[in-house]
Amino acid sequence: MGRRKKIVQECERLMDEPENIRNIAIAAHVDHGKTTLTDNLLAGAGMISDETAGEQLAMDTEEDEQERGITIDAANVSMTHEYEDTNHLINLIDTPGHVDFGGDVTRAMRAVDGALVVVDAVEGAMPQTETVLRQALREGVKPTLFINKVDRLISELQEGPEEMQQRLLSVISDVNELIRGMTEDMDDIDDWTVSVEDGTVGFGSALYKWGVSMPSMQRTGMDFGEIMELERADKRQELHERTPLSDVVLDMVCEHFPNPIDAQPRRIPRVWRGDDETDLAESMRLVDEDGEVVLMVTDIGVDPHAGEIAAGRVFSGTLEKGQELYVSGTAGKNRVQSVGIYMGGEREEVEEVPAGNIAAVTGLKDAIAGSTVSSVEMTPFESIEHISEPVITKS
Ligand code: GDP
Repeated sequence: MGRRKKIVQECERLMDEPENIRNIAIAAHVDHGKTTLTDNLLAGAGMISDETAGEQLAMDTEEDEQERGITIDAANVSMTHEYEDTNHLINLIDTPGHVDFGGDVTRAMRAVDGALVVVDAVEGAMPQTETVLRQALREGVKPTLFINKVDRLISELQEGPEEMQQRLLSVISDVNELIRGMTEDMDDIDDWTVSVEDGTVGFGSALYKWGVSMPSMQRTGMDFGEIMELERADKRQELHERTPLSDVVLDMVCEHFPNPIDAQPRRIPRVWRGDDETDLAESMRLVDEDGEVVLMVTDIGVDPHAGEIAAGRVFSGTLEKGQELYVSGTAGKNRVQSVGIYMGGEREEVEEVPAGNIAAVTGLKDAIAGSTVSSVEMTPFESIEHISEPVITKS
């Protein structure tokens, strides 16, 4: 059996174990390294070869789009990662980094429970860092932070340990200040801020494929001093082998992002205003795969062969071929023609997609990004608000 087929099978098995699922987005200001980091994760999970990560840019679908005539606004991909002896299914939604794509970023956030925010160590938090944080927090999506391009601080700017520490701490405190400003009215503010000590901050170099976090330093026994020495000595391959970026980030994802069972009770009241005492509400909170089907469509792509593909988050029930589903805002029902998951931007058909997962569905001809698709008529999800860049005015 081919490697890809094996991964698909493993993903299918894990789709039924919501406690081991993480639905995540990676978001960043443009050029901070989101695409390079994403490729590292795909390579780490065995989706693309290690050598080509960084060159292949599998999530950068523009070339694909031109070659195959496919329009993918926010590419989706599923991968597996073993953490503490348990295999996890990570459904990753790529968010466009450019300001004009604000609407897509917001939609992606509806489908996920955690957002890995990438910040360039040299540039620090930028306007779109603020925008993506706001989008995440508004949707009840938990942020973690990855400070990228740390190699530049060491090798290019020749910063010493203290200078570098100051800089990294100031990036973290800027990000936390933004988060605090956005969560003032929320309970448990500390749940949303990030910290090195609790492992919700990682550092490293997506370009040279090494990464570090408090838990990773404990695991590998490598401290920051040793990392600086290796980076300075241009021993980046050794750094990559001893403390690979993908392990650091994927461990952080598994450890610190909530699974759908923990996330949905907290998120549903934020994004759905229906009667919370109904069976349907209970089934969404419990991620009940035997409940009524509820899918929130976050993206529509077009495949020249399969036609329109609706991607979205299954909040309740199990999606299967042949189901007749309501589409919010339209009369009548649509028939599901196929259900699938995304592997590196390509759709793989599967038998069924249970609650807690990201699905790719064909046949929903009336659905648009933002539609609520369900087996019973229901109050639709809140519309997804587009948040634009903060306006900077000169005084
Ligand atoms: P995106 O716009 O956030 O997706 O950013 P990209 O991943 O396309 O990266 C933007 C540029 O930064 C590219 O030229 C990358 O090679 C470079 N880059 C990304 N990560 C790193 C890093 O860790 N170190 C350095 N020095 N350059 C990086």
